[in-house]
This record gives sequence, C-alpha cells and structure tokens, in this order.
Amino acid sequence: MLKVEDINVYYGNIQALKGVSLEVNEGEIVTLIGANGAGKSTLLKTLSGLLKPKKGSIQYLGKPISGKAAQTIVKAGISHVPEGRRVFANMTVEENLELGAYLRSDKNEIKKDLDKVYEVFPRLQERKKQLSGTLSGGEQQMLAMGRAIMARPKLLLLDEPSMGLAPLFVKTIFKVIQEINQSGTTILLVEQNANMALSIADRGYVIETGKVVLSGTAAELQESD
Ligand code: ADP
Ligand code: ADP
Repeated sequence: MLKVEDINVYYGNIQALKGVSLEVNEGEIVTLIGANGAGKSTLLKTLSGLLKPKKGSIQYLGKPISGKAAQTIVKAGISHVPEGRRVFANMTVEENLELGAYLRSDKNEIKKDLDKVYEVFPRLQERKKQLSGTLSGGEQQMLAMGRAIMARPKLLLLDEPSMGLAPLFVKTIFKVIQEINQSGTTILLVEQNANMALSIADRGYVIETGKVVLSGTAAELQESD
C-alpha cells in the first residue's frame, strides 16, 4: 500500500531522515518506535505532504506521492493526526468532527460516520455541543482521532496518540486504534511506548537518529527488546 524508498528529509541544514525505507501493507498496523528526536514525526509529516523529501521516493497505492501537496494526499485517503491535541477550540465537538468530512458531500453518509465516531467515543457524544477548548486533554486527543476517522482514510497516520494521557485513557485509545484497524483502515503508528505499540501492531520499525536500525514482526521486536 505504501512504499517509502531511501528518503532524505531536511529542516534547513539539519538532516532529520537519512535514507529511510519502509513498507506498509494494506490492513496492517505498523509502528514506528524510537527515542525523542529520532525522526518519527518527520516521517509522518513527509507522508502527509507537510515536508518534501530531497531524495528518494514514496509510492502510495502504486503511485508516487513524494512532494505532492497535503490536500492531494488527504484526497488520496491518507489522514494524519499530528502530535499534540490539535482541535479548533472555539468550535463545538460536533463541528470539529464535521470538519473532518469536509471533502465529502453525502450528508447521510456523514451522519452515519458521526454516529460511528460517537459509538467509539461515547464521551464525545455527551459533549457534542460543547466548545472543544473546554474538553480535557484526553478528550481532545479522542476528538482529533474522531475527526480523522470522519475523513474515511485508507491509511491513518497517528503521532503519539497516548502522549500525556491518564493510564485509563491510554488503554481506551489503543483499543480504539485496533477497532479502527478492524473496520478496514491501515495504520501507521508512532509511539514512544514501544511495549504498548507492539502489543497491537503487526510489524514495526525502530528509528534512531534518522535511520531505520531494526525492523520485524511485533513478536520479533518484542524479543529483541
Ligand atoms: P521524533 O518524532 O522521533 O521525536 P522528530 O521527527 O520530531 O523526531 O525530529 C527529528 C529531528 O529533526 C530532531 O533532531 C529534531 O530536533 C529535528 N527537528 C524537528 N522539527 C524541526 C524543525 N521544525 N526545525 C528544525 N529541526 C527540527
Ligand atoms: P488530561 O486532561 O490530564 O489529559 P485525561 O483527559 O486523560 O486528563 O483524563 C481526564 C480525567 O478523566 C482523568 O481524571 C481520568 O482519570 C478520567 N478518565 C480517563 N479515562 C476515563 C474513562 N474512560 N471514563 C471516565 N473517566 C476517565
């Protein structure tokens, strides 16, 4: 589904990715693990069109997407939930969710997806008329994920979805990621919590200072620790 080959990505003179290659197959949960500053977020930002690789190629569903605009990539079915809780604070929960479906026009279908998100996140339903800025951090994280689901992505890029959450919320988030995957969405998951990530992933890549240093099935990576 996704094939990244030998990409180099820079911030000015700083090289954040040094010849990274990886693959994601349809239906998988693939995790990127590694310390702070390793380049995980940079990779997701490159896949979602926010950064352009200087070298290398990215193939998605058999077509090159390296360097394509973010809007084009969203249309092609890739949604990105960036690090931190990016919600529009002055809009209600429901308005934030509807924004996720802005490229679609079938109102009935959007309503159905809204119900699906509320089924997965009952807390969002209880608060649907509330301004998003008044939600707790964990609820905002759920909202950011809910908004991404509303875009009906084929491939969902999740950046540290468990960061800073209460332990109870962490379990909920990982369960939801599994449910989203089971409903047909392929997932690329960036996590610092390697154990949690590997517990739900099919495969993983370990990234260190801009390079893939290890890859394998979740079981292999759990053994190699
Ligand atoms: P991770 O997500 O694994 O924590 P990042 O992808 O955020 O790592 O960062 C990779 C490298 O790129 C780090 O050395 C970081 O300092 C650098 N970096 C990230 N964002 C920027 C930026 N906006 N400007 C300059 N350097 C950056
Ligand atoms: P923060 O705002 O610090 O990020 P959270 O949003 O993660 O905190 O959690 C807010 C509160 O809701 C916490 O006290 C947490 O224990 C509680 N909580 C977490 N998960 C659930 C849940 N599934 N149902 C009800 N309460 C929860």
